[in-house]
Amino acid sequence: MIITPPITSMKNAFSVAGKNVVVTGGNRGIGLGISRAFAECGANVAILCRNEQSGAEAARQLTEQFGGQHAFFKCDTSQRDSVRQAVEQVYKAYGHVDVLVNNAGIAGHISFMADTDMAVWNSILQTNLNGPANMIHAVGMRMKEAGRGGCIINISSIAGQSVAESREHPDPGYNASKAALDHFTRYLAVELGDWGIRVNVIAPGPTHSDLDVNLPKETIEKIENSMPMHRFGEPLEVGALCVFLASPAGCQITGVVIAHDGGMVLVG
Ligand code: NDP
Repeated sequence: MIITPPITSMKNAFSVAGKNVVVTGGNRGIGLGISRAFAECGANVAILCRNEQSGAEAARQLTEQFGGQHAFFKCDTSQRDSVRQAVEQVYKAYGHVDVLVNNAGIAGHISFMADTDMAVWNSILQTNLNGPANMIHAVGMRMKEAGRGGCIINISSIAGQSVAESREHPDPGYNASKAALDHFTRYLAVELGDWGIRVNVIAPGPTHSDLDVNLPKETIEKIENSMPMHRFGEPLEVGALCVFLASPAGCQITGVVIAHDGGMVLVG
């Protein structure tokens, strides 16, 4: 059954105005850039994260700057019950969800053998892989029931494709979780296609966020020099790509992994 009709003109082809969008980790870093991009384009944004203060503050700022209906919902995406409760509240507030962006993620920085009780490994998989799975299960079920299609975007990483940095910065759980998220996305694109729900990945390369604020200047310069585009990406740029994927112009795109990395994966 065809739920998403093809576009017939460029009028509104890139519009997400009026759509209800859930962004996990939408309170800071790349997630805040994604929240801003959607809010500036006229969408309503539900921010799900653990930190109440920055979550509420981010929603308040979006409303002040762009208008629209933006709100914070406390949620630990790694915990299924927390996700169920938050999603219930989101549906009470918004009625339906058009777009889900699974952005929340963590890194570990410990080699596999040094992680003696595999606590880091388990915690990263729980957040970076089971977190999106929890969200997609809860929101995808309701998208199916609503019968109006949907767009799911998983934020992975070029670390899901490359292990170039592994000797200097080992993070095996991160590599594995992002690669698994890429392939889980391909699976979901097939299963959810019958309901007009598209599922894609954006795989960022080095991007300004809380993850890089403590990196020494020399390290940043070394990374930037190695990148074909010679600079880190910006959170709003990842947001712009999310807006494109969620807009009618993206209506035939599903099951793909789009690198947003200034060409880094080609040389890393
Ligand atoms: P930050 O550390 O700046 O932000 C992480 C975000 O995830 C925060 O909003 C945090 O909110 C949220 N979060 C973490 N754990 C949970 C949880 N269990 N439940 C709910 N929210 C959670 O990271 P970035 O902005 O840099 O990263 C965002 C995404 O982009 C991640 O998936 C990351 O892997 C990916 N990425 C980032 C790159 C970069 O260079 N920055 C490169 C490639 C990929 P709170 O603490 O309030 O819960």
